[in-house]
Amino acid sequence: MSELAYPYEAPASQALFDRAAAVTPGGVNSPVRAFRAVGGTPRFMVSGSGPYLTDADGREYVDLVCSWGPMILGHAHPEVIAAVQEAVARGTSFGTPAEGEVALAEAMVERVAPLEEVRLVSSGTEATMSAIRLARGFTQRTKVIKFAGCYHGHVDSLLAAAGSGVATFALPDTPGVTGAQASDTIVLPYNDLEAVHAAFAAHPGEIACVITEASPGNMGVVPPLPGFNQGLKDACAANGALFVSDEVMTGFRTSRAGWFGVEGVVPDLMTFGKVMGGGFPAAAFGGRADVMAHLAPAGPVYQAGTLSGNPVATAAGLAQLRLLDDAAYEKVDAVSARIQSLVTEALAKEGVAHTLQTASNMFSVFFTDRPVRNYEDAKAQESFRFTAFFHSLLSHGVYLPPSSFESWFVSTAHDERAVQRIADALPAAARAAAEATA
Ligand code: PLP
Repeated sequence: MSELAYPYEAPASQALFDRAAAVTPGGVNSPVRAFRAVGGTPRFMVSGSGPYLTDADGREYVDLVCSWGPMILGHAHPEVIAAVQEAVARGTSFGTPAEGEVALAEAMVERVAPLEEVRLVSSGTEATMSAIRLARGFTQRTKVIKFAGCYHGHVDSLLAAAGSGVATFALPDTPGVTGAQASDTIVLPYNDLEAVHAAFAAHPGEIACVITEASPGNMGVVPPLPGFNQGLKDACAANGALFVSDEVMTGFRTSRAGWFGVEGVVPDLMTFGKVMGGGFPAAAFGGRADVMAHLAPAGPVYQAGTLSGNPVATAAGLAQLRLLDDAAYEKVDAVSARIQSLVTEALAKEGVAHTLQTASNMFSVFFTDRPVRNYEDAKAQESFRFTAFFHSLLSHGVYLPPSSFESWFVSTAHDERAVQRIADALPAAARAAAEATA
């Protein structure tokens, strides 16, 4: 569908987008925000409150993106805001150790059993990059296995997602990543343990780690098949490699202890971000104490950050984690289930082929009637139907992720009024999806 199909019905956002495009590549600071997959004007938001975002044109949306995961209590939660204000008043960065970062690390270690020690960083990308470096330093090996369709941030060696079949050496996915960086990355199809065993057999003694999203949400929601993560863990243990579970998206969202809390497979290293920062730049990696002991200054593997453990970010993260008790997860799970059934009902009523997949309260809709087990399956969906569905919902005040390869996120703040707005908007959106043409 061409961009012209969506006239600029958001003039204030469009004016900001034009200004932005003059000073920022593509007008955005993170590519998916630009709406390129769906066309139209990206909405510039001016405020958020509970389940709602308000754009520069004064239109309110029920937010099903939640800042791509972090805002699990909704926007501007009063207790998180109070914690932030209190922290800001005491100063915004010290460049020294401070109690807040200890308290946040303790809260994480208390919730996630395999996490014996953590190091705080500022983004999920930094977390996965550092975990890979540590895995290589610890094992004295170079190669890394990752899975097609899993996103671990824009770490050079992990941007390699191309290649199909077993143990394909990846080509760089983006200019700027050298062949050498990508050639140490082995990209395999997700949910395929045979491919993992074959890769270990083909590269004896060379593989430092396997990194996987604990339950992938970056090709849409594609949960691990039963036994897949345990199989990865066992293959790593049998071959002297580390098992790195990326919980940047699932951590403290899919349960109190993230995806580990759902499945119970014990990784050697884990990465976190999003929810643990309460909407601020805070992330972490951690795991086995004997592995973490290799990290500077305790050990030789260097890793550092000017703003790591920032006092405002840690105050926000800690406030958010403290509010995330069992009742909060029950609430998020329940509202997620409600919205899931509204979506399937509406699409089924219009006869739209679709598969809704979940990972606890994370979910997404694929416009195909076949189960989606890996990236190839995800790409086989009719994405043009998503475009029509997305724009119909947007015009009725419901904000979905602007791509069919993303998880949808809800929060404890998604109340009856917000759910009703979604329910009211869905019939027209389902009709638009049914009528869409490629
Ligand atoms: N890992 C996973 C699973 C993610 O979903 C993301 C971001 O979406 C990252 C890593 C990178 O995190 P950040 O965007 O904070 O760098």
